[in-house]
Amino acid sequence: MTAVVELDAVTKEYPGGVAALRGVTLSIDAGEMLAIVGPSGSGKSTMLHLIGTLDRPSAGMVRVDGHDVAALSDRRLSALRAYRIGFVFQRFHLAPGRPAVDNVADGLLYAGVPMRERRARAADALVRVGLGDRLGHPPHELSGGERQRVAIARAVVGEPALLLADEPTGSLDTASGAGVLEILRDLHAAGTTVVVITHDRDIAASLPRQVAMRDGEVVGP
Ligand code: ADP
Repeated sequence: MTAVVELDAVTKEYPGGVAALRGVTLSIDAGEMLAIVGPSGSGKSTMLHLIGTLDRPSAGMVRVDGHDVAALSDRRLSALRAYRIGFVFQRFHLAPGRPAVDNVADGLLYAGVPMRERRARAADALVRVGLGDRLGHPPHELSGGERQRVAIARAVVGEPALLLADEPTGSLDTASGAGVLEILRDLHAAGTTVVVITHDRDIAASLPRQVAMRDGEVVGP
């Protein structure tokens, strides 16, 4: 198995002396699906930010898709993020007033794909998440669950190696949340590596692997 993510003795301290991560070692293989679970403040988001190369560790090593994050310039790091990593957040982060298809097509902006192809691939991605009949609808005409599915389509339209989801069902009702999880499972079945942060123990238990965190440390499955 090839590791897509490797953290070795990673610590992260924020200004003011908060130690958000205290020596985390973790390996995620290509094609895995796992939950990162733990109480609020335990370091889940900090770890996801480091895995997503949105931030650098204070000490220790972070390798993503074979690259030592510390050795990459900001430009190469941005490229790694744009081409290889997809993000889904609790609050969707869609552009208001823009049709779903354009919101998803924006996920390919950095890849230098021509606009016609961007929109065609965006339409395909929306079909895959069950929104083939909502291409022209802006976010305010969609339900919460549909918005999150648009956000997932945007995250995966560039076929990233790694999909990182931070509380993706956190602002959804139970039924919509289940639909979103089902889509994440389908992506995993199709080969994408999927990491889901959740404080919902039932969701975590339903995924193939759990990584439990407490006070900035991994405390076992
Ligand atoms: P979780 O996602 O499990 O709720 P976080 O990773 O958000 O945990 O936070 C871990 C700890 O780091 C908390 O004590 C939090 O207050 C602190 N923290 C998070 N982000 C920052 C920041 N940007 N600056 C200072 N402290 C932060």
